[in-house]
Amino acid sequence: MAEYEKLVISEAEGCWLTTTTGQRLFDGVASLWCNVHGHRHPSIDEAIRNQLGRVAHITTLGMSADITEALAERIVEITPGDLSHVFFSSDGSSSVEAALKMALQYWHQRQNPRPKKTRYLAMSLAYHGDTTGAVSLGGIKYFHQLFAPIVFTPIRGPLPCSYRLPDGVSVDEACDHYAAEVETLLKQHHETLAAIVMEPLVQGAAGMITHPSGFLSRVRQLCDHYEVLLICDEVATGFGRTGRMFACDHESVTPDIMTIGKGLTGGYLPMAATVARPHLFEAFLAATAESKQFFHGHTFGGNPLAAAAAMASIDLFSENNLLESVEQKGRVLRSSLAGIANHANVGDIRGRAMMVGIELVKDRETKMPFDSAELVGKRVCQRATELGVWVRPLGDVVILMPPLIATDEELQRAGAVVCQAIGEVLEGESTGGKYVSGLP
Ligand SMILES: *Cc1c(COP(=O)(O)O)cnc(C)c1O
Repeated sequence: MAEYEKLVISEAEGCWLTTTTGQRLFDGVASLWCNVHGHRHPSIDEAIRNQLGRVAHITTLGMSADITEALAERIVEITPGDLSHVFFSSDGSSSVEAALKMALQYWHQRQNPRPKKTRYLAMSLAYHGDTTGAVSLGGIKYFHQLFAPIVFTPIRGPLPCSYRLPDGVSVDEACDHYAAEVETLLKQHHETLAAIVMEPLVQGAAGMITHPSGFLSRVRQLCDHYEVLLICDEVATGFGRTGRMFACDHESVTPDIMTIGKGLTGGYLPMAATVARPHLFEAFLAATAESKQFFHGHTFGGNPLAAAAAMASIDLFSENNLLESVEQKGRVLRSSLAGIANHANVGDIRGRAMMVGIELVKDRETKMPFDSAELVGKRVCQRATELGVWVRPLGDVVILMPPLIATDEELQRAGAVVCQAIGEVLEGESTGGKYVSGLP
């Protein structure tokens, strides 16, 4: 906070934000990875106004709103395979908490109970939210280490990274290598493992760590083989970001539980959901006296205004054939970065479709990172913001995740600004030279 420079937005439209001082900024991270169809989209605005004329909030505990019921059905339609039961909460972290509790309770009270299954496996550098259960899964030192005394300890999987490969492992071998690491852990721990929790395809907050393709389906097979549930956290990857509705769709994987949030309401209102398959639901289905219900509920879970926004947002996907254009837009965004692809300090440009990370390194050859005290990522993003594109780094990874409806021209412009910012901030930097000039 001691360095915070006030940036206050008074209004927005499409992909553009207007600050209280009148600056127009391109929303390069979709208001924290959630905006899908742009700001003030007429049909989402109207859906919320219509719902406001009916009811703004009722509880989903012991009752539900018609719009929330309709949304649950819609979510079942668009999520993979037989994911068929929807539990609403208000944010992605809560959807993960619900998934963790559901998995444990499932093993406890299903037909052939396995009450020893109380642990979770999470990937290295995992990020699943900021509440305590989600922090337990977390593997990012900077965010999570301090809280070790108050959290549970997961079994730590590999970092299935396609950029920094383990010694002696080639790109082609990476998927097998990481899957074998997961299998080793499963062999050792499957008796006590309730679930593997992972982001499919791309670990967003880890710095857009992109998994080798095929890794997700290998993990699915391993979970089946060792009788461990698979929880896929699609809070960041869901709703078109990766070019399909869900990242799991790329590998035809149906997790046992899927968490969704961020883009669910088009990025308009706080809402998330934990979606489960029938075998999960059935383990909780019993008369009240058996006490098998899921004792978990959020005051605003299933909120009707948020549900109305979500319905309108999901409708827009089909009305505009949006998914068909996302891969193409992702290519435009990538090509807009071609100018820096060979820059001495650009180690990697990665991600899927409209989920892009640019990793800045001190030495492109050795992939050696910058000293974190140099705040290279932060300085690049500050410069880009001065130039009219609001982006936010994760360490030295510059994140570009614009709204999915950004036009080719907007994407090209945003990419060009990010290239310029990188060029200026790292001018004369290349391999180890010290950065001297301050920001203008
Ligand atoms: C953002 C995020 C969360 C947490 O969602 P909140 O709505 O911020 O609580 C969980 N998992 C992933 C993968 C995320 O990107």
